[in-house]
Amino acid sequence: MTPSFSRRTLIGASTALGMIARPGRVRGSTPNAKPAVLGGEPVRKKAFPGWPIVGDEDVSALVDVLRSGAWYRGSGDRVRRFEAEWADRLGVSHCVATANGTSALITAMNALEVGPGDEVIVPPYTFVATVNAVLIQHALPVFVDVDPETSQIDASKIAGAITDRTRAIVPVHIGGNPADLDAVMAVARDRGIPVVEDACQAHLAEWRGKKVGTIGDLGCFSFQNSKNLTSGEGGAVLTDDARLHAECLSFQNNGRSEGDMPGTFGRNGANLRLTEFQGALLSTQLTRLESQARTREQNAASLSALLDEIPGVTPARMHEGTTRNAYHLYMFRYDPAEFAGLPRSGFLKAMAAEGIPASGGYSPLYREPFLRRTLESRAFRASFPSSTLAEYEERLDLPGNERLCEEAVWLTQSMLLGTRQDMEQVAEAIRKIRAHASEIAKA
Ligand SMILES: *Cc1c(COP(=O)(O)O)cnc(C)c1O
Repeated sequence: MTPSFSRRTLIGASTALGMIARPGRVRGSTPNAKPAVLGGEPVRKKAFPGWPIVGDEDVSALVDVLRSGAWYRGSGDRVRRFEAEWADRLGVSHCVATANGTSALITAMNALEVGPGDEVIVPPYTFVATVNAVLIQHALPVFVDVDPETSQIDASKIAGAITDRTRAIVPVHIGGNPADLDAVMAVARDRGIPVVEDACQAHLAEWRGKKVGTIGDLGCFSFQNSKNLTSGEGGAVLTDDARLHAECLSFQNNGRSEGDMPGTFGRNGANLRLTEFQGALLSTQLTRLESQARTREQNAASLSALLDEIPGVTPARMHEGTTRNAYHLYMFRYDPAEFAGLPRSGFLKAMAAEGIPASGGYSPLYREPFLRRTLESRAFRASFPSSTLAEYEERLDLPGNERLCEEAVWLTQSMLLGTRQDMEQVAEAIRKIRAHASEIAKA
């Protein structure tokens, strides 16, 4: 905690700045209204658009599968049809559907033969599944720090993390904002290391006009309930490489050689198949993805323009090669110094009171118990020198991630499916909280 003397000085300085230096920024009388967290009227009483969105086509597609009795991919053609549609939409030769995004990543790791003693480069600012897909192969996730400005892996640090055990590099397009794929692909090609894109949050995002998930050797998607394209659970692995495609198809179907029934068992595998219900639902949901993506982009652009006018909130920067952001999340960073020292938790609470649900996003994954427990497991002790495991935690020096985990604020993708007025209300709530930040901080 800051001593109260210097804290009061800070509050005084930033309040004065807000009132004197930026008079034009405060629109109308709203900022003078009492914040909802202090008992005033909330900026917004209506809920944001819900998710998922269900139409009659979804209902009839599901009922058709139900009545047909062909409920799994071996007896129907819905999964295969969706695979062809998704590959076509992304401009890639092959797509294998899987039970979920986690199993898409596990399938990709198996296609590349990532195994005991290997290392895989991952960013720490991601969903735990990216890391678990490596650990489950008894391979070591090597964290390369993120750039807090973009929330993406800092590709300039990848080369320094490569060893002769590095078997794959996994850039994650977090929030749907593409990682720097020029830099990632350059270092990967230079060292001959395969790239698996974790595009689980990046449906239709583009890098220099090409869809993300199709630029690395393999790309993985998730169709989990929260994702921009969903069937409750679901996933896919994409590739232009016929051999990798055959491995993925076989792996998700218990190692059947042709991928289909009955087949011979050519390799090890698991049952990670998508059901026909999910395949049918994804095809109908897919008909709306493009227009939803456009709405998200337009609303995100409006919101970014509004936030650019408010000191202390900074939208995530996009890399220069980004031609489309999928906005699974709208991410910005919050600076308490511009809000009279009001901590992020207080800001989030005040936003919720104004009717704007926002979250602080990920916490540092490597402080969760799962990592140490896995490193201490029998399989890891058998696969790695004890010195590697002993030094692992000491090497976790990730200041970019630490900072981002403290500063990030997320809005979910469905909040971007409404109107421009919704975005104005988000900005209005932030301006109101900022104008009253010292009172909120003291309350
Ligand atoms: C959702 C997600 C996954 C895993 O997907 P599931 O379908 O939930 O298994 C992996 N990586 C990232 C970045 C995700 O957001």
